[in-house]
Amino acid sequence: MRLNKKEWFTEAFENQTAFSVRYSKKLHASQSQFQQIEVFQTTAMGRVLSLDGCFMVTEKDSFVYHEMITHPTMAMVSGAESVLVIGGGDGGTITELVKYPSLKSITLCEIDAEVVSTCREFFPEISRGLTDPRVRVVCSDGAAYVKQFTAEFDVILIDSTDPVGPGKALYELEFYQSVKRALKEGGAATFQTESPIMMSEVFGSTVRNLRLVFGDEMAQPYLCVIPSYPGAMWSFTICSVDKKDFSSPSCCLSLDYIEGLQYYGSDVQKAAFVLPQFVRRLIA
Ligand code: SAM
Repeated sequence: MRLNKKEWFTEAFENQTAFSVRYSKKLHASQSQFQQIEVFQTTAMGRVLSLDGCFMVTEKDSFVYHEMITHPTMAMVSGAESVLVIGGGDGGTITELVKYPSLKSITLCEIDAEVVSTCREFFPEISRGLTDPRVRVVCSDGAAYVKQFTAEFDVILIDSTDPVGPGKALYELEFYQSVKRALKEGGAATFQTESPIMMSEVFGSTVRNLRLVFGDEMAQPYLCVIPSYPGAMWSFTICSVDKKDFSSPSCCLSLDYIEGLQYYGSDVQKAAFVLPQFVRRLIA
């Protein structure tokens, strides 16, 4: 069947493959200082946020991303009090974080204030955590922002775009070193590290660089499935200054009591660290 281009939003990946969703209405379109921001109403995926033509958030599957960037890391760091999220202007990661009563301060450092205001307007459910009084939103480049801190945060989550445009700075060795320095003893940082199957070079080099900075056993990738992203198989890499066995139940708190989970569970955490052979080879 041919697509009527007028009714379909398509993300073309490297001009070789594409994923499309039919929309009933374009709800928003603007060009911020940093990127093109669009919001579509669709039947298949609910509302969709795209930045520079790439799927960022869909109401259908964003719970996978937001739960899987947040809870494995929180499970590792008992009694975490301070968290920094870099990127993540849609507020979905913050909405997962505010479920933790132990957290006293939650800072969101998003470069583009227009992403935050657009998501507050069009994605009120996903972004609702932004209204929590513990949350502070800083509009700044995360790479520059994190440099000023030493042993400040228990958890840092890098909820970034791809390594292009403003996101490029979040894939550099200097940034990884700053993140490590900003972590408290016992803390952990998790980076979104792209699709091992469609972005194998970026995935492999990012994990290898994280291992250069944190040490081989201190940076472990894990996987989940996000249908709206290229390749659907998606990765995060958790890094710690002083902990190793990220998937072991003995080193992780059980978070199965967290309200409203749709993907994460302690069994899912264990399984997510089991890597297929080709993924292991990419980071060897
Ligand atoms: N779930 C998403 C994904 O992987 O496709 C990420 C979503 S989140 C909306 C990514 C955010 O990172 C964007 O809003 C973008 O503006 C922000 N961002 C990109 N580069 C940044 C930087 N250097 N500092 C802070 N935020 C940045």
